Amino acid sequence: MKKRISFLLAIVLFVSSSLSIFGAEQYTVKEGDTLAKIAKQFDMTYEELAKLNNISNPHSICIGDMLAVGPVYTTEELNEQLVMATLWVQASAEYRALAYQTFSLAQMLIQKDLEDETVDKPRAIVVDLDETILDNSPYEAWLIGKDFGYSSSTWNPWIQLGVAPAIPGAVDFLKFCEENNVEVFYVSNRKVLDDNSGYEGTVKNLKALGLPNVDETHVLLRTGSSDKTERRTMAEEGHHVVLYMGDNLNDFLHDFAGLSVDERLTKTDEYKKEFGKKFIVMPNPMYGEWEGAIYNFNWKSSAEERNEMRKNTLKTWEREVQ
Ligand SMILES: [Mg+2]
Repeated sequence: MKKRISFLLAIVLFVSSSLSIFGAEQYTVKEGDTLAKIAKQFDMTYEELAKLNNISNPHSICIGDMLAVGPVYTTEELNEQLVMATLWVQASAEYRALAYQTFSLAQMLIQKDLEDETVDKPRAIVVDLDETILDNSPYEAWLIGKDFGYSSSTWNPWIQLGVAPAIPGAVDFLKFCEENNVEVFYVSNRKVLDDNSGYEGTVKNLKALGLPNVDETHVLLRTGSSDKTERRTMAEEGHHVVLYMGDNLNDFLHDFAGLSVDERLTKTDEYKKEFGKKFIVMPNPMYGEWEGAIYNFNWKSSAEERNEMRKNTLKTWEREVQ
């Protein structure tokens, strides 16, 4: 009897050690399976699945094969990384102060421009919406604890609701523009959507906040390309544009689109004289083109790959912990 128990124990130990080696669930390959198909079910890429199972040829799997499946690092875990950035936006007085400071600078620039009597066209400004005028941190906070990331299927209902609060200082600033006959063009990559609900939700939101120029001429959402150049040009036609505001450098110039992390930094150096003068930047630590650059714009990358790319991008000192 004693021998039998130890034998069973040995089996249990073997099984548990093999599970810990794999560090993931097991899956038995069925007829019609491909590595890509299995990977998709477990929120992995086929490359990750192949790597996890030491498979060099992705076509070599057979029915009945046992595969370790992930994900090893889940989207829910990745979403945990949003906690500090989202808290900084929502709970730090420093973020609030920085928002006030940004609008205060923009207002000073407009006041200065208003003194210029040589301007012979109506004045205007071009502002982005999300994380420039509207605060979507409640959406980001809602993602925390969920096992899925940003997607249009959850983002669209949020914008259709039209309940995003204003960024601190935005309402007073835009009312100042209105009082001084400075037109406001809202150039945003929110999508209009087929049933127009993206546009309607946005307009509802802006109107509820009492913002000026909330009409079809001035609220320019995305109907095609994410490149804002054409919509900026629409605002520039017949207007003297005093400044541009955004949380993403593509809000100012399309030159910033699709660049690597280092290229973005270098390009920013090239344009440094424009910041605080023509280009007014609002901080957004939660998401943006800066994040895409870290992934080389591979938005199909898995949570595990993203976590790895984020950590690999960190600059750290070399000292070893004793
Ligand atoms: Mg934005």
